[in-house]
Amino acid sequence: SVNTSFDWESICGKTPLEEIESDISRLKKTFRSGKTLDLDYRLDQIRNLAYAIRDNENKIRDAIKADLKRPDFETMAAEFSVQMGEFNYVVKNLPKWVKDEKVKGTSMAYWNSSPKIRKRPLGSVLVITPWNYPLILAVSPVLGAIAAGNTVALKMSEMSPNASKVIGDIMTAALDPQLFQCFFGGVPETTEILKHRWDKIMYTGNGKVGRIICEAANKYLTPVELELGGKSPVFVTKHCSNLEMAARRIIWGKFVNGGQTCVAPDYVLVCPEVHDKFVAACQKVLDKFYPNNSAESEMAHIATPLHYERLTGLLNSTRGKVVAGGTFNSATRFIAPTIVDGVDANDSLMQGELFGPLLPIVKAMSTEAACNFVLEHHPTPLAEYIFSDNNSEIDYIRDRVSSGGLVINDTLIHVGCVQAPFGGVGDSGNGGYHGKHTFDLFSHSQTVLRQPGWVEMLQKKRYPPYNKSNEKF
Ligand code: NAD
Repeated sequence: SVNTSFDWESICGKTPLEEIESDISRLKKTFRSGKTLDLDYRLDQIRNLAYAIRDNENKIRDAIKADLKRPDFETMAAEFSVQMGEFNYVVKNLPKWVKDEKVKGTSMAYWNSSPKIRKRPLGSVLVITPWNYPLILAVSPVLGAIAAGNTVALKMSEMSPNASKVIGDIMTAALDPQLFQCFFGGVPETTEILKHRWDKIMYTGNGKVGRIICEAANKYLTPVELELGGKSPVFVTKHCSNLEMAARRIIWGKFVNGGQTCVAPDYVLVCPEVHDKFVAACQKVLDKFYPNNSAESEMAHIATPLHYERLTGLLNSTRGKVVAGGTFNSATRFIAPTIVDGVDANDSLMQGELFGPLLPIVKAMSTEAACNFVLEHHPTPLAEYIFSDNNSEIDYIRDRVSSGGLVINDTLIHVGCVQAPFGGVGDSGNGGYHGKHTFDLFSHSQTVLRQPGWVEMLQKKRYPPYNKSNEKF
């Protein structure tokens, strides 16, 4: 049995409950002062944050390693390079995004009042983040919220205490304290923070807590952006011509960060015609990626004892056949990259999002059967991956199965495309963020018209009494 105690408090500490109210009041006061409306102020803050993160690269990398034992290369590729790219993109484009948009295509009735859409900040917003990509999941929403002119509170996850502490402190030192507040702690602290009125809440994490957040937000009709997870399927069809390349891309997407990625391929639906070859290709690829059992030093470990217990429990009760991996080490919370073949819908591995290095393989008798499987069991995943070289088959799957994002013949890559919205649908969340989309989600699109006095002569007939309208001219 595993020691499930996890002393995060001694590492990242907790914001004293009695300080939370005054911290929030400070943010609200700043917003009311109008300070954040100034574009140059926003850009200065964003640049300060970008430089602080770049200057503290080693510190952040080491903190993430202390929590997850994640290889530095993964942290650099999946967090730093994407985040720095987004900083550059936002700084370059923000002056354009804040401009009023002309409303085009109006009827003649609106020609004189020149309708515009003005992007207004919402006010004081709250960002609540999880532990699995602690840099990017905290910084990217905060960047967008500041870009849009809001004051921001950030609640870091207690499940990645080293990274939360280091990243939270760096952000606090880099940003104006009138603009930004970082909160640390667990459920009591988050519960206290949620008692207050926010102008928007963005929550990234699991759906169960998502519902708690929505209930709290409901009291004030606060809009909530939910970035959740799901059981993201991979389709490998008989029309997939390069099975080894498919295996490489699926194994990479699955085991990066030890499978603790919201868009990780959760399970593979494979057609019988290519099943045996695909399984053999996966085994070969795993041997190449982690020769001589090197995964323990080359792959991230499980973040917390509870997640470790959950995953090993699922593995112990699977009725499928372990064809790779299957070993684990409770002392280091390491689970070997594991592939389980012959899994069906009732298996322990198919009940919820795995969020760990276990890859179930399910045989689907046809493309139609594979789609039906998803629709019946986990209909709105965060991501969906199709490995096929047949366009009509790709279109068929694409049109039948909904998901937050879809990648054909690869995995994960859509997340780094910061110009496109990233988000879920149904059980995997709502909305979408990154780049301009985060700016939009933290802005209110206010319609503004300005009517000149001289049009009154044209408009008189709109006034009562209506039956004498002709006389009013
Ligand atoms: P977590 O345990 O760190 O929880 C997230 C946040 O919720 C934390 O800040 C935590 O303090 C807070 N929280 C926990 N319980 C709470 C409660 N009862 N009341 C109020 N707040 C509470 O993270 P997690 O949920 O384990 O994260 C993993 C999940 O997040 C997975 O489902 C994953 O797919 C999803 N995820 C989604 C995305 C995305 O962008 N869509 C990204 C990463 C992770």
